[in-house]
Amino acid sequence: MINIAIDGPSGSGKSTLAKLIAKKRGILYLDTGAMYRCVGLKVKETGIDMYNEESLQNLLDNLKLDIKYIDGEQKVFLDGKNVSAKIREHDISKLASDVSALPACRIKLVEIQHQIASRNDCILDGRDIGTFVLPNADVKIFLTADPEVRANRRYKELKAKGQDVHFKTVLRDIIERDRNDSQRAFAPLKKADDACELDTSFLSVEDVLNKIEEIINKKGE
Ligand code: C5P
Repeated sequence: MINIAIDGPSGSGKSTLAKLIAKKRGILYLDTGAMYRCVGLKVKETGIDMYNEESLQNLLDNLKLDIKYIDGEQKVFLDGKNVSAKIREHDISKLASDVSALPACRIKLVEIQHQIASRNDCILDGRDIGTFVLPNADVKIFLTADPEVRANRRYKELKAKGQDVHFKTVLRDIIERDRNDSQRAFAPLKKADDACELDTSFLSVEDVLNKIEEIINKKGE
């Protein structure tokens, strides 16, 4: 059984790398950010006040979340509906970050993440995987990159999906989300003491993949 944790701020390359490693090793990839995005989307669609503990708990108790692989691609279902594209919309990023600071939300999603990780060889990407979700993960990677580089990657992704965004807005939002995620009291974005840190600003995806594979292989020796 192998559990791999990849953490880092948005745009650092976590999901791209986690997907490639999962494919190469034939293990499961769990995108924990997608789970927080689903809660953000549900808050938006139901219009509840996320800071009202009872309303939030009720929403979480009734959350039906499914991550499936269809033709090798991750599809996210919320209450039976495929929301894979919707959860990537720009406004959902901020909502996901806001709900993710609420302990009740984290407790609920981390419980699901634990269940999946205890039953599968898997790679999880997120903010708190190495520090909180899987403190005993076999391999821990912490990816970073300059905010401008990360914003540029996100901007290109959003543009390619046809979303009407400006680079400056994406950069500002990324910086704000970094601050939100690293300053929250409960399980913030943080490098685990025993994680290997890689700055991906000036590396190609292939370079980062090779470096991570090296780290994984070394751990297995
Ligand atoms: O990784 P992604 O950008 O999709 O994550 C969306 C948001 O979900 C992050 O900004 C963060 O606030 C939250 N998140 C988290 N813990 C995780 C994964 C994501 O708090 N493990």
